Amino acid sequence: MTLAEQWTDIYLDLHRHPELSFEEHRTAGIVAESLQAAGFEVETGVGRTGVVGVLTNGEGPTVLVRADMDALPVTEATGLDYSSTVEGVAHACGHDVHVTCLLAAATELAATPETWSGTLVVVFQPAEELGTGAQAMIDDGLYERHGTPVVVLGQHVAPIPAGTLGLHAGPAFAALDSLAITLHGVGGHGSSPHTTVDPVVMAASTVIGLQTVVARTVAPSDFAVVTVGRLDAGTKVNIIPPSARMEVSIRTYQESVRTRVLEAVERIVKGQAVAAGAPRDPEIEHFESMGALVNDPAACAATRPALESVGALVIDPGPVPGSEDVGVFASAAGCPCVYWLLGGADPAHFDGLTSVSEFAAKVASLPSNHSPEFAPVIDPTLSIGTAALVAAARHWLPKS
Ligand code: ZN
Ligand code: ZN
Repeated sequence: MTLAEQWTDIYLDLHRHPELSFEEHRTAGIVAESLQAAGFEVETGVGRTGVVGVLTNGEGPTVLVRADMDALPVTEATGLDYSSTVEGVAHACGHDVHVTCLLAAATELAATPETWSGTLVVVFQPAEELGTGAQAMIDDGLYERHGTPVVVLGQHVAPIPAGTLGLHAGPAFAALDSLAITLHGVGGHGSSPHTTVDPVVMAASTVIGLQTVVARTVAPSDFAVVTVGRLDAGTKVNIIPPSARMEVSIRTYQESVRTRVLEAVERIVKGQAVAAGAPRDPEIEHFESMGALVNDPAACAATRPALESVGALVIDPGPVPGSEDVGVFASAAGCPCVYWLLGGADPAHFDGLTSVSEFAAKVASLPSNHSPEFAPVIDPTLSIGTAALVAAARHWLPKS
C-alpha cells in the first residue's frame, strides 16, 4: 500500500465513524496511535478528549499546528459509499480531512528531521463546533506542559476548488455571540388581553426592532449579522402565556462593532419590554461567545510562499462569516495565527469559468460546510492539505 492509500484509508475510516463534540474517543485513539508510531511524545485527554503530539528536533522555536476532530449532529446525504455509519452524526464540516492531513504531515515531518529544527507540537482539538474545545485545552495546561508556540498554523476545508488554498490576512472568521432572551409578561385568558401583558406581541415587536440594529447602528462599510434563529411562546390558542423566549445569533469581525451591536440588542430588548409594560426586565443570557479569528498580516505574508510551493493556487477568499476557535490558541500564546482554507470541491465544477463573479457564484451554489451533502473530494484535497501543513511548518521551523 502506498502512503497516499494508507492516509486515504484513515480518512475513509474517520468519515464512516464520526463523533460529536467532546465524544471524540475513537478518533483520539486513532490519532494517538498514529502519532506514537511516527515517534511523537503523546498526551491524551487534554481538555477532555484532545490529543497533543510533541516532537523535539534540535534547537529552535516551538510551532503549534492544529486540527479539530469533532463531527456534527447532521444526517449525511452525500450518497457516498463511505458515508457515516452513525445515525444522525456526520463529518459535515470536514474535520476528518483536517485530522487526516495533520497526521500525514506529522508523520512526514518526523521522517524528514534533516529538513527542520525546533519543537513541533501537533494539537488535535475536541469540540470546535461548540466553540469551547480550544479553551478547554488551554485551561488544561497545554502550554504549561508543552511550551508556548511562536505561531499557530492550521486549515479548514471549504467548497473552493481542490488544488487551491485560500488565505486572508486580517479578520478571517467572524466573532460569534449567541444570546438566549426571556421576555416576561403577564399571562391570562386569550379573550381578555386587557388583563395581561402579552409576551407574544412583545416578542414580535422585539424581532422587528432587532432588524434595525444592522440597518441603523452599523456603518455600511462594517460587517454584522443579527439573526433571531429561535422563538418560543405559548401552549394553546386561547392562553396568553406568561413569557416568551428567543435565541439570537450575532456575527461581527471588529471588536468595536461587536460591542456596539451587543449594546444595541440589549437596549432594544429592554426597551420593548418597557414599552409593553412588562412586570420585570427581560433576562439576557450570553450562552456562546467566540472572538473573531484574526490572521496576522505579517505572518500570512511570510507563510504564503510556503503554501505556494506545494503547487496550489493561493487565493484571497475574503473573510468568512462563520466562526472558528483556533484563534484561542494564538491569543493565549500571544503569538500570530495563520489559518487558511483548503480547497475540497471537485475542480470539474469550475471548468470553463472565466470571471471572479462566476467563481463566487459557483462556490455559493455548492453544498457548504454543515450541509448534509457536504462532500470534499479525496484527491487532491488530502495531498495538498498535507503538503501545505508540512511546508508551513518547515517555514516556521527553519534548519539553521
Ligand atoms: Zn463547523
Ligand atoms: Zn469546522
